[in-house]
Amino acid sequence: MRTSPVWHPFTQHALEAPMKRVVGTEGAYLIDEDGAPILDAISSWWVITHGHRHPAIMEAIRRASESYDQIIFAEYTHAPAEELADGLIGIAPTGLKHVFYSDSGSTAVEVALKMALGFFHNIGAPRSRICVIEHGYHGDTIGTMSAGERGVFNAAYEPLLFAVDRLPFPEAGREQETLDAFEASCASGQVAALLVEPLVLGAGGMKIYPPAVLAELKRIAERHGSLLIADEVMTGWGRTGRLFACEQAGVAPDILCTSKGLTGGALPLAATLCAAAIFEAHLSTDRRRTFFHSSSYTANPIACAAALANLEIWKTEPVRVRIEALAAKQKTHLRRFEGDPRFCNIRQAGTVSALDLAVPVGGYLSEVGPRLRGFFRERKLLIRPLGNVIYLMPPYCVSDADLDRAYDAIDEAASAFAAGWL
Ligand code: PLP
Repeated sequence: MRTSPVWHPFTQHALEAPMKRVVGTEGAYLIDEDGAPILDAISSWWVITHGHRHPAIMEAIRRASESYDQIIFAEYTHAPAEELADGLIGIAPTGLKHVFYSDSGSTAVEVALKMALGFFHNIGAPRSRICVIEHGYHGDTIGTMSAGERGVFNAAYEPLLFAVDRLPFPEAGREQETLDAFEASCASGQVAALLVEPLVLGAGGMKIYPPAVLAELKRIAERHGSLLIADEVMTGWGRTGRLFACEQAGVAPDILCTSKGLTGGALPLAATLCAAAIFEAHLSTDRRRTFFHSSSYTANPIACAAALANLEIWKTEPVRVRIEALAAKQKTHLRRFEGDPRFCNIRQAGTVSALDLAVPVGGYLSEVGPRLRGFFRERKLLIRPLGNVIYLMPPYCVSDADLDRAYDAIDEAASAFAAGWL
């Protein structure tokens, strides 16, 4: 058994192959110890958007580090955080007017939940419930696990998790059941917010639902005075085809969480954007109405500078064109598996593609995922299926040849599986 002092996330150290050491990154690749490029077909857990070490982001980091390290973010402020807040409000869905910084997707969502409860508490009409869609994933803190799917990931922590109202996932043809369940939940008058991953439930299995459902959920929330929290930690920054997935549904959420691609993936940073009414409910001469949340590294100036460089890239480079082209290529590649009995549930949302390997037992704990991972690793491809759900979420700079290689490997893996030797 390995005795490394490093404890890696989502890793069963007793079963995993030794870690591969990465010595550098470049564009769509991780570089391994032998100097060989590994195609990062999942953008290093979905953070890298434009490609690893985009020169403009690296330059912004270098320049910011000449003036800043960390600065306390109460009593003091700094230009990178202020400019970034203005920039984010300028490009986010309408109605989002304030930006609260933190440092990961989980904290962005945790902040959103606290903002929602704080809003109702501060206006003197407290509400106690949060609604979510089943199969969601919002992070690994106690609060975000409570909102996420219950199961093997959080069984040990169950005694500490709080109850939420769970809506059935809007399966095709059964969307009305989701809407009816939300309506019923809201009828309690206690739903502070509906927390959703817009259009794609990521870690829950790349499950995709139509924009019209999101739009209808928003209408129901509005009717009942409940808030809509859009967890765009994965879907944001172009993954589903638009800057934010909410745009595809024409939905303006009351709170929006972003992280991952906010800095182009270069540094940890998160932001929770909220409507003016939520901020204003926390404005008072009564100090008890303060928003009591912070993390030490809130609004790290160097990370904010990286995020500003990311915004600039969106303005000055043809990112949208790249995204459209990548989405079109994903579509073409997926087409080759249509009607193929080795696969089912072939699906796509913009630059994200997914398909399920047709196996009798394919849950997250089955050996299918680790075996596939090993197969891809041998071929210098970073692809980490969620059980039997194989998905690609490459950086937007991925080349046609590399995308071909990734799909060829998926094809080969499926044949190997069918032949029973993988
Ligand atoms: N929300 C969503 C939709 C995510 O996909 C993730 C991470 O994958 C998170 C929240 C948690 O983000 P982090 O891992 O940065 O805490």
